[in-house]
Amino acid sequence: MEAKVMKIALIAHDAKKDLIVKLATAYEPILKQHELYATGTTGKRIMAATDLKIHRMKSGPLGGDQQIGALISEGAIDLVIFLRDPLTAQPHEPDVNALIRLSDVYEIPLATNIGTAEMLLRGVKAGFLDWRKIVDDMKERPINL
Ligand code: PGA
Repeated sequence: MEAKVMKIALIAHDAKKDLIVKLATAYEPILKQHELYATGTTGKRIMAATDLKIHRMKSGPLGGDQQIGALISEGAIDLVIFLRDPLTAQPHEPDVNALIRLSDVYEIPLATNIGTAEMLLRGVKAGFLDWRKIVDDMKERPINL
């Protein structure tokens, strides 16, 4: 079965922007096989450093986190990598919390640090999340067990 193209959201607070650029560069061969979304500045930085194509939302503090949250609630995001800065107060903290909450509401895999982000991306490559496609296929074409 062909691996599912996943919709992956990439977000990083300012102190983590360099890190997400490094992550996207290192994992470009995996990321380029999927549909990518990002908040404004994060997407701009990643696109400047890689050949990845990204749907860019508004900047996080200007509503970008909420836009990604809305996509999650519509079932339009399959995985979130959100490298948050745990040491700096953010003016849009409520939006940050709302995005993380919605990921949990809709059971979307969510990484908030580089360690988990790498595990998730390697898991995507290994097909750990392909069961979702199998379940979707079964819904479209029910089989008698
Ligand atoms: P940015 O937004 O990518 O536009 O900087 C990220 C955030 O702060 O939530």
